[in-house]
Amino acid sequence: SLSDRLTGTFKNLRGKGRLSESDVNKTVRDIRMALIDADVSLPVVKQFTSAVRERATGAEVSQALNPAQQVIKIVNEELVEILGGNTRTITYAKRPPTVIMLAGLQGSGKTTFAGKLGARLKEEGHTPLLVAADLQRPNAVTQLEVVGQRAGVSVFAPERGNTGGHDAVSGTGEGTRSFGDPVGVSRAGIQEALSRQHDVVIVDTAGRLAVDADLMQQASDIRAAIEPDEVLFVIDAMIGQAAVETAQAFQEGVDFTGVVLSKLDGDARGGAALSVAGTTGRPIMFASTGEQVKDIEVFHPDRMASRILDMGDVLTLIEQAERAFERGQAEEMQRKFLAEEDFTFDDFLQQMAAIKRMGSLKSMLKMMPGMGQMSAELDAFDERQFDRIEAMVQSMTRFERTHPKQINGSRRARIARGSGVEVSEVNQLLERFGQAQKVMKQMARGGGVPGMPGMPG
Ligand code: GDP
Ligand code: MG
Repeated sequence: SLSDRLTGTFKNLRGKGRLSESDVNKTVRDIRMALIDADVSLPVVKQFTSAVRERATGAEVSQALNPAQQVIKIVNEELVEILGGNTRTITYAKRPPTVIMLAGLQGSGKTTFAGKLGARLKEEGHTPLLVAADLQRPNAVTQLEVVGQRAGVSVFAPERGNTGGHDAVSGTGEGTRSFGDPVGVSRAGIQEALSRQHDVVIVDTAGRLAVDADLMQQASDIRAAIEPDEVLFVIDAMIGQAAVETAQAFQEGVDFTGVVLSKLDGDARGGAALSVAGTTGRPIMFASTGEQVKDIEVFHPDRMASRILDMGDVLTLIEQAERAFERGQAEEMQRKFLAEEDFTFDDFLQQMAAIKRMGSLKSMLKMMPGMGQMSAELDAFDERQFDRIEAMVQSMTRFERTHPKQINGSRRARIARGSGVEVSEVNQLLERFGQAQKVMKQMARGGGVPGMPGMPG
């Protein structure tokens, strides 16, 4: 999967002091393969990798982050950018009703989404009306009525067998068998909303299993007739490579103002999201995440980017590391770690202070990739141990802090008395400190999250 591959890529980057050109080339190659594996379309892959390459070879050198973290950060920022940057939601009409039209292939999740959106808008205090303009199959109207009932939202539908004076096939072109006039029904639905004071109209339209000229024309006719404030293109996130072709066909045929990514509860890693957003330039506004009315989410580009990266909340961690480590401080630490003997208990205290500034240790650990499974152990960990360690270090003399190896039995006993702990705890601390020095030395060469080793637990 995309995330597996990227994780592998980033692992390879660990252990490097500086990002060389061949590192960047290799990373970009891996990312390209990963995106192609995830069914992201080729032009989008190219656009994405060249942006990452440019930035990674560029002059941005971070003091707070190691090379792997830097690349993750760049990849993430570029993902967010392609996915539309900021979250965007429905733009309401100045004069109600706000008209929202849904378009997309059959089975993409339009009707289901109509109910979800209706329920959500109702919750927000709106008075939505669902309009059944999918007249390809009588079942489609019934389905919307059921969906509306479940969502507690009114539905406007033509009476079956009575198409309101319109001919059965009017305006829908040859080969499209319809039992009513979708354009007429859409118009009538908006009239209904006006007279019954519904402030939002959601028009559900017909789709075909594959892109189809007649159906596209029908959707386009509906759009021209009702001039919707938003046209939402609903697309199944599992569609894979076909996402680009489908999205482009709908952009050319009907055009849309936003995208709804449906069936995100499945295995889809977000390849479709990248492809659609990347090729159409339209914002993804909602995610549909199940068959129930409540399974709707406002789409957040940054959250989707982390889902695609699937690196736990490592990105949050990077942000926090950047904030906590002022420029230069990390470099100074790094220099010290290189000389094992130089690393003292004073540095250790400073590290702990940095960790504290980064927030709760537990929550930080949980953000580390792969740490999620360890939650139970983490929950058992008592952060108050930190205070005990601080007390022990503070009971050391200057000499002891800078010469940990000289801390003999009697000194240990004194430190234990001074900090109110057992001698065994002091022994444990010294042992861990020795290990920490070694790890730090490795990290100084390889990178990794500063401040992690040597902590208790
Ligand atoms: P339409 O033809 O575009 O109107 O699509 P429907 O709304 O009828 O949905 C087609 C099928 O996909 C139905 O079986 C829905 O229950 C299912 N479906 C729709 N949205 C989702 C979703 O977000 N997650 C899952 N798992 N299934 C969905
Ligand atoms: Mg439908």
